[in-house]
Amino acid sequence: MSAKILVLPGDGIGPEIVAEAVKVIEALRRDGLDVELEEGTIGGAGYDAHGKPLPDETLALAREADAILLGAVGGPQYDSLPRELRPERGLLGIRSELDLFSNLRPAILYPQLADASTLRPEVVAGLDIMIVRELTGGIYFGQPRGIETLENGVRRGFNTLEYTEPEIERIARSAFEIAMKRDRRVCSVDKANVLEVSELWREVVTRVGEDYPEVELSHMYVDNAAMQLVRAPKQFDVMVTKNMFGDILSDAAAMLTGSIGMLPSASLNAEGRGMYEPIHGSAPDIAGQGVANPLATILSVAMMLRYSLNRPDDARRIEDAVGKVLDQGLRTPDIWSEGTRKVGTAEMGDAVVAAL
Ligand code: NAD
Repeated sequence: MSAKILVLPGDGIGPEIVAEAVKVIEALRRDGLDVELEEGTIGGAGYDAHGKPLPDETLALAREADAILLGAVGGPQYDSLPRELRPERGLLGIRSELDLFSNLRPAILYPQLADASTLRPEVVAGLDIMIVRELTGGIYFGQPRGIETLENGVRRGFNTLEYTEPEIERIARSAFEIAMKRDRRVCSVDKANVLEVSELWREVVTRVGEDYPEVELSHMYVDNAAMQLVRAPKQFDVMVTKNMFGDILSDAAAMLTGSIGMLPSASLNAEGRGMYEPIHGSAPDIAGQGVANPLATILSVAMMLRYSLNRPDDARRIEDAVGKVLDQGLRTPDIWSEGTRKVGTAEMGDAVVAAL
C-alpha cells in the first residue's frame, strides 16, 4: 500500500518552498517511490479557509497520514487574533493531537557553506549533529504553575519540572534508534548534579542504553554541553535532552551553521509517524518574491524518507543532490556570497531535481 503524505504549505513563504519540495517528491515517484500526496490547510491559511488554525479536515487527514510535510505558519495579519485562533496554535495542536514527543533537530553544515558560520570554518565545516529534544513534557507543561501573591505581598512565579519514567524511556529509545542510523553515539544532556528529575533521567537513559550495546552512551551536564557545542561541536553525534534544555541547545546548534534556510526538522510519535518542517518561520518579509531558500524544506523530505518511510537510500539521494547543487555554486540570496550564482526559489528546486 502506498504511504500517505499530507502536505501543509501554511503561510508566508510556506507555499513557495513546499512547492519545490513537492517537485522533489514527484521526481522520486517517477523513479518508483510509492507515495500518495494530499493537501490541507493550517495556520493562517486554515483560519482563512475554515475559521481555525487547525481545521477538522486537516486533523482528520493528519491522523490518516504516514507523514506530514509542513511549510511554515504565521504572519503579521494574524497577530491581533485571539490566542486560540493564532496560526501557531495549529502547530501546537497537531503536535499534541498526534503525540509528537520526539523532536529531531539536526545541525548540519555543508562544507560549501562553512563561511556562513560565525565560528572558524575548521571548527564547524562538515558539522553533523542530531539533537533529540523531548517535546511534549517537562517544565513547559508541568503542573502546578502560575504567579501568586504571598501573604507578605511578595509575588512568586513558579513552574514544575517533571518527567515520568515512561516519558524518559520513550525519548531515550527514540534517540538510540536514531543513533543506530547514524554514527552510533548518544550524549545525554542533563543537570543530574542539581536536579532530582535529572537523576532519574540519567538512570533511565542508562537502562535503555543497555538495550543498544552497539551505541556508545555518554552523559554531560547541560552547562558543559553548551560550552562544548561552541568549542568543539564536531565531537557530538546524537544529543538527547529534555524539552527546555533542547529548546536552547538546538537553537545554539542551528546557529553554528549560520544559515536558517538550510535546516530541516522532524517531530515523531511512538509509531515513527511524524511531521517534517524547516526550522525557520514563514518569513513574511520575503514572501511572494520567489527568493526564499527551499533547501530546508527539501531536506525535511529527506528526513521524512529516512525516519517515517524507511527509504534511507532516497533520503541520501536528496542530501547528495543538495550537496551537488551547492558544489555547482547555486545560492539563494540568504546563503549567497561573492563568487557564487544567485538563484530564486524555483530555480533552486529545479536544480535539486536535476541533480537527483
Ligand atoms: P522567520 O524564520 O520567518 O524569519 C527570520 C529571518 O530569516 C527573516 O529575515 C527571513 O526572511 C529569513 N528567512 C527565514 N526562512 C528563510 C528562507 N527559507 N529563505 C531565506 N530567508 C529566510 O522568523 P520570524 O521573522 O521571527 O517569524 C515570522 C513568522 O513566522 C512569525 O509569524 C512567526 O510566528 C512564524 N514562525 C513560524 C514557525 C513555524 O512555522 N514553525 C517558526 C518560527 C516562526
